[in-house]
Amino acid sequence: GATIGILGGGQLGRMLAVAAARLGLHVHIFEPASAPAAETAARVTHASYDDADALRAFAQSVDVVTYEFENIPTAALDLIESICPIRPGRRALATSQDRLVEKTFLNSIGLHTAPFAPVTDIASLNAAIAAVGTPAILKTCRMGYDGKGQARLKSPDDAAAALASMNGAPAVLEGFIDFSAEISIIGARGIDGAIACFDPGENVHRDGILHTTTVPAKIGPSLRSDAVLIAARILNALDYVGVLGVELFVTPGGLIVNEIAPRVHNSGHWTQNGCLVDQFEQHIRAVAGWPLGDGSRYADVVMENLIGDDVLRVPELARSGVALHLYGKGAPRPGRKMGHINRVTSRQ
Ligand code: ATP
Ligand code: MG
Ligand code: MG
Repeated sequence: GATIGILGGGQLGRMLAVAAARLGLHVHIFEPASAPAAETAARVTHASYDDADALRAFAQSVDVVTYEFENIPTAALDLIESICPIRPGRRALATSQDRLVEKTFLNSIGLHTAPFAPVTDIASLNAAIAAVGTPAILKTCRMGYDGKGQARLKSPDDAAAALASMNGAPAVLEGFIDFSAEISIIGARGIDGAIACFDPGENVHRDGILHTTTVPAKIGPSLRSDAVLIAARILNALDYVGVLGVELFVTPGGLIVNEIAPRVHNSGHWTQNGCLVDQFEQHIRAVAGWPLGDGSRYADVVMENLIGDDVLRVPELARSGVALHLYGKGAPRPGRKMGHINRVTSRQ
C-alpha cells in the first residue's frame, strides 16, 4: 500500500498515523526532537530540518507528505516538494505561518477579522494603537501557539512593556473582540474539490490553552451555516487538500475569524467519538486522494484536554465511562498536552 509521510511526531502526528494504519497505509514520521507520542504508532526518523540527506531519504520513502504543525522551514519544504507532493499545499502553509499574511488573506476573500495593524517597533505600535484602539492584543506574527507570544494592552500605557515582550520579533496588534463565545469549525476538502465540514464546536480556554470543546455549539442555524460557508470559502481560495481548523468569535455582528490552522485541530478531537469518520481519517483520506468520508455527527460530545497533572486522573477516568485518548508522552509537565477524554453526553 501507499506510505504517508508526516512532518511532526506529537499527538496530532500520532493520531494521524493511527488513522492511516486503520486504512491499511504505511506511515513514516519525520521529527527533529524526541517523539514518544509517535514512536508507538509509526516508523520515525529523527533528524534536523537542516539535514538535507535525511529529508531527501524521508521524501523518497513516502508517496505524499503532510504535517501536524505549520512552522516548517521553507528550505525543507522546497526540498521535499522536489520529490513528492505536500498536502495541504504551500499556499496554505505560507498563509498560516504568518498572522499578518493570514489576516490580510482572510480580509481579501471577504471574511471579517479583528482590526489589526503590523508592529515592528514603538513607532508602528503607537500607530497601530491609534488605528485599532485599546484594549488590544499584541501577537508575534510567527510561531505562537497556546497563547504564547502574546501580550495584552489594557491601555496605551502598556505599549512599551508589550513591545519588549516580543523580543524584537515582528508582531501584529489586534483589537480586542468582545465575543459571547468561541467556536471552531473543522472542514475538509478532497483532491476533487469536494468539501465536508464537521459540526461546529464551542471552545473554552484556560490559561491560553484549549480546555474543552462541546458539540453541538449553542448557536442557531444561521450562524451554523455561516461557519460552514466561511470554512468552504477558505478551503476553495487556498485550493486546499486536507483538513483545516478555523477558530471563530461569536459576536452580535456575526462571526469573526480568529485564526486558521492548516491541519487537524485540537478542537476537532471530539469527532473520534461523535462521527463515523473522524478528522484524522478525513485528513488521511484527503491527502491520499481518497473520497471524503461521512463526518456527520451522531452524538453530543464534550472533549476535555488532559494537561500536565490532569493525567493523574486517568485511573479514575478509566472507570467513568468516557473514551480515553492518551498520547504516551511519559512524565507530565505543566502545560503539556498528555491526552484528552471524550464524554458522550447523548446519542442520536
Ligand atoms: P492556538 O493554540 O489556538 O494556536 P494561539 O497562541 O495561536 O492559540 P490565539 O488563538 O490567537 O492564540 O489566541 C488565544 C486565545 O486568546 C483565543 O482563543 C481567545 O480566547 C483569545 N483572543 C485572541 N485574540 C483575541 C482578540 N482579538 N480578542 C479577544 N480575545 C482574543
Ligand atoms: Mg494559533
Ligand atoms: Mg487559537
